[in-house]
Order: sequence, then structure tokens, then C-alpha cells
Amino acid sequence: MPGTTLNGPSAHWHPFQNMSAPLDPLVLTDGEGVWMTARDGSRYLDATAGLWFCHAGYGRREIADAAHAQLLRMHAYSTFGDYSNEPAENLAQRLSGLAPGGPWKVLFTSGGSDSVETAVKYARRYWNLRGYSERTVILSRRDSYHGMHAAATDISGIPANRVGYGTLLPDHHLIARDDAQALEHAIKEHGAERIAAFVCEPIIGAGGAHFPPAGYLTAVAEICRRHDVLFIVDEVTTGLGRTGAWFASEAFGLEPDLLLCAKGLTSGYMALGAVLVHHRRTAPFWDGGEVFRHGYTYSGHAAAAAVALANLDYLTDHGLLAAAQRIEDRLPRLLGDLASEGVVQSVRTGPAALAGVQINPQLVREDPSLVPRAVLAVREAGVLTRGLACGALQISPALCITDEELEALATGVRKGLKSLS
Ligand code: PLP
Repeated sequence: MPGTTLNGPSAHWHPFQNMSAPLDPLVLTDGEGVWMTARDGSRYLDATAGLWFCHAGYGRREIADAAHAQLLRMHAYSTFGDYSNEPAENLAQRLSGLAPGGPWKVLFTSGGSDSVETAVKYARRYWNLRGYSERTVILSRRDSYHGMHAAATDISGIPANRVGYGTLLPDHHLIARDDAQALEHAIKEHGAERIAAFVCEPIIGAGGAHFPPAGYLTAVAEICRRHDVLFIVDEVTTGLGRTGAWFASEAFGLEPDLLLCAKGLTSGYMALGAVLVHHRRTAPFWDGGEVFRHGYTYSGHAAAAAVALANLDYLTDHGLLAAAQRIEDRLPRLLGDLASEGVVQSVRTGPAALAGVQINPQLVREDPSLVPRAVLAVREAGVLTRGLACGALQISPALCITDEELEALATGVRKGLKSLS
């Protein structure tokens, strides 16, 4: 019968969810600042900014108004060939000015995975056009997360997400997470003349909230420069304010060849991503007459770009980059003592407004339901979080969170975790 489903009452197939188990979804209806309301009226403090995206907070009229105005005027048109629109032109110019050490050229996408896929294709096409068609190998890090498209799935270092697909991206190798020498060795092992690019998140997000050891990022940047390997920095979670700078690349003193962003670019008010290509790597296309035969229907979507511009204004006008710095300063004091709670092994904090509350891996091995139970217990205590790949709870609130709300976040996490022991 049309409209019925065999295995449950809902037709909605949730990402990353066992749909054969009974499911009573938390249906959220409203958001204001960092506060979410569910259909049954219960309220929660959102500790994760949705999926790392909501830097400005929920319910921002300025951003909604920008969307409304652009949707009515001209919501979208092609940007293929010689077509363009004003919001896309303005946003590209603005991003080129915000990213460190430009100028940059900006390719628009519809999200983070699109940006990663675009960057991988760009790297190969770039070397091919420069006469180095054997430079096809992509290197990336264990524990990294770069999204869900084919190349992105393969280059992400989370084994569970790669199971069962075979080789989605030939000529790809994973290297150790925090060891610059591992990059040097991989380049030597495969031959620098074969390596197209090294892709890395400045701070690993979904793979567990892992901060880089001091000096790691500048060391890998230097290795890439020395071997003429494209240095692709995936700033889908760190970009647009999470580190207190517009980009983590600036905070860590990096000048990548390609810089990828999405999420915080619009604070999630619309789906939009971008690939920034440093001008030193644009020559085959911007000087050589070659065409990058790549683009998406919604590349440079006018309403999404208008939303991004309004979001950048919001972050600027409300001092939310400085706010990220304040959150970063407070998180160690607020969460640090959780490491003495029963199920917590450690709390990872570092130079960004984010933390990972690591549930003891030994306990997780003994009881794989521990992390989902921890997430639910914290929810019962009024705070929304989620379990990351390595069994850490994600703490990455909207940058508008007040000191009082940060205290409430920490109290809720503590209370929830205590109820498990
Ligand atoms: N890259 C990083 C670092 C991410 O964290 C994510 C998503 O979490 C992606 C890429 C993929 O982005 P999307 O889910 O928008 O495709």
C-alpha cells in the first residue's frame, strides 16, 4: 500500500542509525541561540552546534531575512560558463580576503564532501595539466574524517566507514595521524614524483576531536612544500571561526595550496561549501587556457551565497571569533575534572572552541552500548551531544554561547555521565 513501510512506522531512513532497532526519534522543532525545543516541548542545550555547523546560533533573523530576500528576487541560476550572480561574486571576493595569504580563487560546492571530492579531482587534474600525470597518489591521515562521497570515504581514516566498498579511490594511502615523519616516509616510499596531495584537517573533528601536537602542522606544510606536494587543508569543521580566527590555517600559521570549507560558512542556514585555491596553484586554468570540467548544479547558489554573506556579517558584528577564544579558554576548567568521573578516560581540549570527552575505551570494548548510553544520559540531563568515531563525546557549541550557558553545558554533561556510574 502506498505510504506504508514494512519495518517501522516512519519512512525516514536516518544516517548512521540501525534502522532495524526500535527507534523513537527526538523530533526537534525550534532553535534559539544554543537552545533546541522538541515536539513534546522538552528543551535542550545543543553542545555540538548541530553537526559542527551552527556558529551563529539558531533563529537568526538577519540570516533568515537575507535568504528570504534572495529567494524572492532570484533563488538560483546556473554559474556554469559565463553565468554568475551577485551574492556568489561577492562571497568569492570576501572569502579570498578572509583566508590567509591569498589571493585565492573560489570554487563553490554544496557541502563538505563536495569540497573534498572537488579538491581530490583538482589535485589530479592540476598535475596532469602541468605534465606530471603520474602524480596521482593522495595521502591522508588515520582517524581523519573528510565526508561521505567516494573519494572522501576512502581518504577518511575511520575504518568502520570504509568497510564493504572495496577501493573507491585508487592510489591512496593512509599515514599515522600526528607524525610528520610518517608523511616524509610515505613520500619517500611511493616517490615524490607520484604524490599529488596530502589532505589533512588541522584539528581532527568527527574522528575524535584530536588536536595536533605542537609543530606538527607547520612540519607537514614544510614537507609538502619541499616535495612540491599539494597541501590540502580540510577546514570544514575548523573554518569560519571555530579556532578564534577565520581559518585554523591562519591560527596555525599555514598557507595551504587548497583550503576547503562548508558548515560554518552559512552556519547551516543553507547548504554551501567552497574550495579555495591559492593563486600559486591556479595557473593551468587561469593562465593556461585549460577548463576545469567540474561543477555542481548548485555551485554558487545565489540564496546560499546570500545566506553566507549574512552569516559572515553576523559573526563579525557579534564578535563571535573573539567569543570562540573565550570558549576555548573556559573549556579546560569547565570540563577538565570530568576525567575523574567513572566512565571518562580523558578530556581533550586545545586551541579551538571544542573538546572531546573520551569515554574509557576499555569500558567501551567491554560494553559497546556505553557511548550511545552516555549520549542518552547526557540528553536526559538536558544537553545534546553525540559520540565521535573513537568513543569521545563532541563538545563544540555555537560560538554565541554565553558563560552561563557554558556552565549549564558542563553541568549537564557531568550529571549525565555521573548517572552511568
Ligand atoms: N570534512 C570534514 C573535516 C568534516 O568534518 C565533514 C563533515 O563532518 C566533511 C568533510 C563532510 O561534510 P558534509 O557532511 O557537509 O558533506
